[in-house]
Amino acid sequence: MIYSRDLADLLPVVQTMAHRLVDACEAAGIDLLITSTYRDEDAQAVLYAKGRTTPGPSVTNARPGESFHNWRVALDFCPLECGKCAWNDTNTFERVGVIAEALGFEWAGRWTGGMKEMAHVQYTGRLTLAQLRAGSVPVIT
Ligand SMILES: [Zn+2]
Repeated sequence: MIYSRDLADLLPVVQTMAHRLVDACEAAGIDLLITSTYRDEDAQAVLYAKGRTTPGPSVTNARPGESFHNWRVALDFCPLECGKCAWNDTNTFERVGVIAEALGFEWAGRWTGGMKEMAHVQYTGRLTLAQLRAGSVPVIT
């Protein structure tokens, strides 16, 4: 089971974008901790089971293969303040989201219908899950 926090486990194009995001945040005075990059389908199955067939709150609606993390194009982050995760700092999450969008990421802080996730960005180059599954690779536009 793989739950990676390593940018090197993202697709090369997405690594480039992720470095741009970290650098742009640093320039804006925001220290980002990357909490999740790639996770494999077994790891996704464990997450999907939470709140369904195993205890705890539900944490994802994505089944194995349905998360963009499974396709190495998504990352989760938390802003750090004095070295500590500032999970409740909505303002800084929004600043990061706006910076990410300006670079070309999709930011899940805009998502609706119960999918909203302040800590998640992805760079798909407008590819769908089906296209990623079929082997298409995003490009930077
Ligand atoms: Zn995520």
